[in-house]
Amino acid sequence: MTERLPGFSTLSIHAGAQPDPTTGARATPIYQTTSFVFNDADHAASLFGLQAFGNIYTRIGNPTNAVLEERVAALEGGTAALAVASGHAAQLVTFHALLQPGDEFIAARRLYGGSINQFNHSFKAFGWNVVWADTDDVSTFEKALTPKTKAIFIESIANPGGTVTDIEAIAAIARKAGVPLIVDNTLASPYLIKPIDHGADIVLHSATKFLGGHGNSIGGIIVDAGTFDWSRDGRYPVLSEPRPEYHGIKLQETFGNFAFAIAARVIGLRDLGPALSPFNAFLLLTGIETLSLRVQRHCDNAKAVAEWLSPHPAVAWVNYAGLPGDRYHNLARKYSPKGAGAVFTFGLKGGYDAGINLVSNVKLFSHLANVGDTRSLIIHPASTTHSQLSDAQKAQAGAGVDVVRLSVGLEDKEDLIADLDQALKA
Ligand SMILES: *Cc1c(COP(=O)(O)O)cnc(C)c1O
Repeated sequence: MTERLPGFSTLSIHAGAQPDPTTGARATPIYQTTSFVFNDADHAASLFGLQAFGNIYTRIGNPTNAVLEERVAALEGGTAALAVASGHAAQLVTFHALLQPGDEFIAARRLYGGSINQFNHSFKAFGWNVVWADTDDVSTFEKALTPKTKAIFIESIANPGGTVTDIEAIAAIARKAGVPLIVDNTLASPYLIKPIDHGADIVLHSATKFLGGHGNSIGGIIVDAGTFDWSRDGRYPVLSEPRPEYHGIKLQETFGNFAFAIAARVIGLRDLGPALSPFNAFLLLTGIETLSLRVQRHCDNAKAVAEWLSPHPAVAWVNYAGLPGDRYHNLARKYSPKGAGAVFTFGLKGGYDAGINLVSNVKLFSHLANVGDTRSLIIHPASTTHSQLSDAQKAQAGAGVDVVRLSVGLEDKEDLIADLDQALKA
């Protein structure tokens, strides 16, 4: 008899979890504790020396967080994962394991506005130098490669425009150059796209968005695909060189295909400190149980709203990869056949002022800076999330002055359309 592999919805509910061995509790308990008692002195020493796996202190690991990590690793098809305090913490901890001062990484220009800021300013202060490239012309990634390049970073479905990235084409460039491909899979979620199947070596999430899905918890996840050989040429010394604080072990040699997840935990999370609260891990786990139902409904509602907006007389254009005429429709059909996500942009003929007007007059949509909530959300990026960028950077990031971004929620689509209708008339 061959063993059945569980499907995505089954993994969303069960991966990593089992009834609590002490109490029988069926839902994963919130282990709201800072620290864990050692069995004896030898046990303590082996935990600290990385000779045994176990709980020490919640900054480095926690049993509730461990269920979340195992679940997302299973959903993404990775070898291991690390939960951290936010999506930005996931990016910080990831690059900390890969880059030395003076190193470079290539990033897609079309990214979440906060990531553009993090890379342009705070990362540069660490000596980690971003080089921007254009996902609409993947040759720009190849041209941006130098001997100092240590990673390539893209979003699978990119914020704010909901554009779909040709992951395989960029993965081929990364593989040829011998650098890992990091994919921020926040907007797609593994229900729509599994970047590891298309060549990603590391997958990141702002779990704040669709994974948690209810707009109640900030969190981030790093997934190790287990695909990259970190030992080549000593280019990734955190992974390939002896660690003095761990009796000189080499992480890649000791932990093989989950060495990156271990490095992120026992170096990055340990020293930089952005640990996820177990309470947030519990809420994120609860959200993930309904991921497949929610994301499908998000996509179906988004498509209905985009179809309604397209012919509207006040609307200049709609960019939704789920619409047949869209520039990214073929990429969406290839990478995200179940739907093109719930986040997309459209342009108002009335420009900046019309954008401000619309966000001021909606009643059901919430005017705020988030995506991936059960509730429908609206924002005018040029006056908010992307306001710190120059007009040229705004346009390059898909956030020009006439652009409105929606994150379509789980309400009845008729109510969402009625709300936009009255606000566009107002
Ligand atoms: C929100 C977001 C982030 C940052 O995540 P936080 O949880 O807010 O730190 C990174 N990437 C994308 C695509 C996002 O939408």
